[in-house]
Amino acid sequence: MDRIQNFIMMNFMFKLFDKENKLSENEEYIKYNDNSPSRYEIMTEGEKYGKRSGFGPRVAPIMLSVIRNQHKVLNTLKKNPAEPRTEISEEELNELEKLAKKLGAGIIGYTQISPQLIFKEKAILDTNAIVLGFEMKKEHIDTAPSVKCLHEVLRTYDDLGIVSNKLAKYLRKRGFSAHAGHPLMGAALYPPMAQSAGLAFIGYSGIVISPEYGPRFRLTAVYTNIENLPESKENEHAWVREYCDKCKKCIKECPGGAILDKAIEHPNGQITHVENTKCMPYFINEYGCSVCIKVCPFNNVDYYQLKENFLKTS
Ligand code: SF4
Ligand code: SF4
Repeated sequence: MDRIQNFIMMNFMFKLFDKENKLSENEEYIKYNDNSPSRYEIMTEGEKYGKRSGFGPRVAPIMLSVIRNQHKVLNTLKKNPAEPRTEISEEELNELEKLAKKLGAGIIGYTQISPQLIFKEKAILDTNAIVLGFEMKKEHIDTAPSVKCLHEVLRTYDDLGIVSNKLAKYLRKRGFSAHAGHPLMGAALYPPMAQSAGLAFIGYSGIVISPEYGPRFRLTAVYTNIENLPESKENEHAWVREYCDKCKKCIKECPGGAILDKAIEHPNGQITHVENTKCMPYFINEYGCSVCIKVCPFNNVDYYQLKENFLKTS
């Protein structure tokens, strides 16, 4: 990406941050709390670790589309109905899921978000969330770290951002309020949402692992005032964590030495194994890295096959 493109992109990013932060001043929105995490601004702060590798001219159209859709997330909030409906019918929900799948979301679930998952200075429309996951193609991820892999990650971000906005529009048309999340620099932490929606479980690498795609997918959410979404109360994937305890492959293979054996406990109650300051230099300079996704056994062997073998031997 040349200097002019970079300048334009940064300008759009800073305008976006302003709009996002203003949202948290709005009384009607759900805000972060004292235990909320700070969002790592990879597009702006990442520069201190080096030049973002792989962000050549081919990436510019994707990034501009990403940023356009990030602005759309905020600009369309004013279109929410003044007196929204709060109950969705079974038929409407089926229709919504059908549309999400048609647009490419292979994973869909529902959950409630606690304010400590909302990033500092950010806000969301409501605590009811529709969680969406999009697959990243294996043949691209298997080349990590590479330009090809980075482009696949960015393509997924862009596609998810577009779909999130489309689903929010769909809900508004039917009289509901909606706030599309964007997968790149969203207002809240997506992996715990996917976990509490019962869709997947967070592995040592910090990446969520699902039966459909293993660790090879990206997430977003649509926040809405719909109160009767069929939220999951259970998660049948907790065994994945026990698998991680024995596997630790990402710890051994992480080129930045960023995935730790010892768990880190965060003020919001989250337990992670990744030290971001060690990941970032490698992430920025090596095409978004993604080695931890590539080497994870769930990327290479079917989830249920791994589960069967694991349960037999444990
Ligand atoms: S992205 Fe790369 S450096 Fe970061 S945790 Fe994963 S493997 Fe390690
Ligand atoms: S590589 Fe192993 S330890 Fe790391 S997330 Fe995947 S299953 Fe867990």
